[in-house]
Amino acid sequence: MKCSFCDRQAVYFKRISGVAYCKNCFIKHVEDRVRWTINKGKLFDWNDNIVLAVSGGKDSVVMMKIVSKIERNFPDVKLTAITIDEGFNGYRVEGIRIAKKFSSMFGVEHLTFSFKDFYGYTLKEIIDIAEKKGSPYHPCTYCGVLRRKILNVKGREIGATKIATAHNLDDEAQTILMNILRGDIGRLIESFRIESQKYEGFIPRVKPMKYIPEKEIALYAYYSGIDLYSNECPFSKLSLRSEVRSFLNDYETRHPDVKFSIVSSFEDFVNKIMGKEDLMKIKLNRCKHCGEPTTREICRACELLEDLKIL
Ligand code: SF4
Ligand SMILES: [Zn+2]
Ligand SMILES: [Zn+2]
Repeated sequence: MKCSFCDRQAVYFKRISGVAYCKNCFIKHVEDRVRWTINKGKLFDWNDNIVLAVSGGKDSVVMMKIVSKIERNFPDVKLTAITIDEGFNGYRVEGIRIAKKFSSMFGVEHLTFSFKDFYGYTLKEIIDIAEKKGSPYHPCTYCGVLRRKILNVKGREIGATKIATAHNLDDEAQTILMNILRGDIGRLIESFRIESQKYEGFIPRVKPMKYIPEKEIALYAYYSGIDLYSNECPFSKLSLRSEVRSFLNDYETRHPDVKFSIVSSFEDFVNKIMGKEDLMKIKLNRCKHCGEPTTREICRACELLEDLKIL
C-alpha cells in the first residue's frame, strides 16, 4: 500500500480516517497532532516554565521529544523533566536511566525525586503498611496521589508554571470510563475544572498527548529509536484500569473511534454544562497539615498517609 501523501510505502493505516502513512508522514502526523492539541487548548504560553513528567516509559519520552522540538521556537520557554522514583523493588531504575539519556539528547534538564526522600517511605513500604492495615485502596491510588503531590511541590520550588503529563487517548478514555463505573464522575469533573484554571500554589496540568492513541505513540517511539521500557509495574495488571483497557481495546475493533468519542464528548459536556463562570467558582483551601492546595481541609495525600498513621 502507498502512503496517502507521497510515493513511499505505507507503514501504518489509520482505520478511522482511511489514511495510509509512510514512516516520515506518520511522524509528521503525530507531531502535527500534538502541535494542534497545544494550540487548540492554549496549553503553553511563550514564557512558560514547563515541567515534563517523564517516567521513562515510551509515552513520556515521546512527549519530551515532541514538546522540546515544538518549544525550541520559543526561546523564553524553560523545560525541566522530572522523574519520580516511587521505590518499588527497583522497578523505576531502568526508567530513570532512559529518562536521563533522552533528556540529555533533547537538551532538557533532568531531575529525580523519590518517595523515600519526600515522604520517608518508599511506595513498597507504604503499600505493605496499607495491606497490613486492611486499606480499601489499590496501590495505584497511593502511587498516583503521592506522585502528583511531589510534582506540584517540586515544580513550585523550581518556579514551574505548567506540569505536562504524557496521558494519551487510551489513558484518558479509560479514566473517564473508570470514573463512570465507580460512580465517581463528580470527582473527575472537579479535577477537570481545577486543572484548567490558575490557583495560587497549584500548577496547572496539561496533557499534550491526550488525542494520540497509545499504539501510535508506540509506533512513533519505534521509528524514532526510543528504547521501549520493558519493566512493567507489578500492579498495572491488577487494576480496574486494566479491565477497562481490555474492554475498550476489544470494543475498538468494531468501533474504531470509540476512545476519541468518549474523550471529546466528556470535554464537550464539561465545557457546555459548566460554562466558564462556573469553572471559576471552585475554591481551593490550604491543607492544614502540609499547606498544599486542596478542595478539602486536608489534602488527599495527607489523608491517605494519616489513615496509615505515617504522616
Ligand atoms: S501501575 Fe499503579 S502502582 Fe504501578 S506505577 Fe502505575 S500508578 Fe503506580
Ligand atoms: Zn508519505
Ligand atoms: Zn496535605
